[in-house]
Amino acid sequence: MNRQYSIPDLEKIAEIVIKEFGCGDDVDVIQLANQLGFEVYQTDFADDIAGKVERNSTNSRIFVNRSDIPARKRFTVAHEIGHIILHNDISKDIDFVDYRNNGKYDQREFEADNFAAALLMPREKSKKVWNEYHDIDDFAVVMGVSKRAAAIRLSNLGLIS
Ligand SMILES: [Zn+2]
Repeated sequence: MNRQYSIPDLEKIAEIVIKEFGCGDDVDVIQLANQLGFEVYQTDFADDIAGKVERNSTNSRIFVNRSDIPARKRFTVAHEIGHIILHNDISKDIDFVDYRNNGKYDQREFEADNFAAALLMPREKSKKVWNEYHDIDDFAVVMGVSKRAAAIRLSNLGLIS
């Protein structure tokens, strides 16, 4: 039950999701959430909360912090989709509240983050874009992610050190 996923596992799962849901290599995360049966809402969270996902008998919803920039909102939705796909035991409700920098970074958060990164920055596209620009800012803009998310992914892909 407590299956743990490595980064290569998560890349494989993200690739399957992209293929199965026909996302292409520029994933519309709202549409994907909808395809999974989740509505996405913006809400006024405290500054230290990025997002939340819940599924119970009445609702299947993702919330993102209204005050975040679009690239962060997009990553948050992708992260919550990671929880839905990876941490989805149909006998249980889902309820994750995602804090920023709370010093508590467990395996499931690691998995949701790396799934999100692989979903938004697929390996082959990332290599292609990086080889074209060799610039983290440009890469982040092209991929529709924050500079921080871009730098982490490029490092994990071994494209920057
Ligand atoms: Zn999370």
